[in-house]
Amino acid sequence: MTDTHTVLNPATAQPVTDVHLASVEEADAAIERAHEAFATWRAVAPGERAALLRRFAAVVDEHIEELAGLEVRNAGHTWGNARWEAGNVRDCLNYYSGAPERLFGRQIPVAGGTDVTFHEPLGVVGIIVPWNFPMPIAGWGFAPALAAGNTVVLKPAELTPLTAIRLGELALEAGLPEHVLSVVPGKGTVVGERFVTHPLVRKVCFTGSTSVGKRIMAGCADQVKRVTLELGGKSSNIVFADADIAAAAAAAPYAVFDNAGQDCCARSRILVERSAYDEFLSRLEPAVTGMRVLDPSDEASEMGPLISAEQQRTVEGYLDEVEVTIAGTTPGGDGFWVPPSVVTTEDPAARIWREEVFGPVVAVMPFDDEPHAVELANDTEYGLSGSIYTADLGRGMRVARAVEAGNLSVNSHASVRYWTPFGGYKQSGLGRELGPDAPMAFTEEKNVFIAH
Ligand code: NAD
Repeated sequence: MTDTHTVLNPATAQPVTDVHLASVEEADAAIERAHEAFATWRAVAPGERAALLRRFAAVVDEHIEELAGLEVRNAGHTWGNARWEAGNVRDCLNYYSGAPERLFGRQIPVAGGTDVTFHEPLGVVGIIVPWNFPMPIAGWGFAPALAAGNTVVLKPAELTPLTAIRLGELALEAGLPEHVLSVVPGKGTVVGERFVTHPLVRKVCFTGSTSVGKRIMAGCADQVKRVTLELGGKSSNIVFADADIAAAAAAAPYAVFDNAGQDCCARSRILVERSAYDEFLSRLEPAVTGMRVLDPSDEASEMGPLISAEQQRTVEGYLDEVEVTIAGTTPGGDGFWVPPSVVTTEDPAARIWREEVFGPVVAVMPFDDEPHAVELANDTEYGLSGSIYTADLGRGMRVARAVEAGNLSVNSHASVRYWTPFGGYKQSGLGRELGPDAPMAFTEEKNVFIAH
């Protein structure tokens, strides 16, 4: 009997298609074929590998609308976001197509000979992707890994496999050799765990929950397997009284309700200096109630549904415990909808303040001064991102340096650019993705000394 998963459209709860879930034996076969393909892929001339990645980018570019449409139906993403996400895969491939010809080693002065270093690919890299941003997170892994000469086995989340499957087909269409990028849809406990335990997988790149990340790290320890973890977050948006409060309040909903709050970088805590607190909340209200929460098949939709009934129940469980101060709307119906919701609290021990809700819920708290804001922002096990709104750029930089998180922005909510490094402090992760150094993270540095 074959194991299948019925993919649902989260906006309507209607089935889209059935996807076969790979068995352990099928995962093993994919890993072994990727291992065989590694011998050829690593030997492809750097210029040719670069050209193939650029060709892959061009083929993705020709399919942006198709890929975006799949994500609108499969993940409930708005059209604007979904197009950006498909474009991000293209951009990552183009950016890292520069890497094969620039994986420079070093020549180090020594006595009695010559010493040189090489960056050698690892082998098969296993990439495990969550359901919240299926396309970009896959691309952040496979583009630099392939550029550095590795082959990749990619496991999408059970709930959102469609764009990954299509990207695997487009790679072949672009001329990448077979089994250089293999997409293996399946369960985390079957295919994902096999990436961790199979000795031919030399590195695991995992993005997902902190609880599963810890388990993966422990599993990788057994073989001292390389591992990168991109995990949960509980990021702060810190608004000082000297900021442009109207601009900060207008931008705040996007920073937390984008992708219905299912964003590891969501600024799900807003800290507002006490003297500006009332004004901020009164300006936040129309920005939240005015959000167009619509079926994302409608181009006007600014926020779609949650990914599943289970995620909807989890988020509603948090909301049941609190009083909602500002609530937006939903279109209702059978989809997995939760309205954008603002909760005010002065209790740093409240569950809504401490835990990653992963839904369209933001907790707002007043603070007294700069040290108090930093103390509140750092009082969490997470450390992924954050924003600071202030007219004083000196203070903006000071606070950005004091917050224990990997990605900060001042007077902006930007978190991710493919050309700058991305990753978490504390329990938000281990290692960095993206940026100019990402291909190096898919290599071993070898040192060779020649006596003469
Ligand atoms: P999840 O941890 O449940 O699953 C993530 C992936 O891991 C899925 O593909 C799943 O099938 C697989 N998996 C599950 N159990 C496994 C196991 N035992 N062994 C190997 N693989 C296994 O996470 P999710 O619910 O899909 O995603 C939401 C989480 O992802 C949130 O916590 C969010 O913050 C985090 N996230 C982090 C980042 C980041 O870059 N830091 C980005 C996006 C999402």
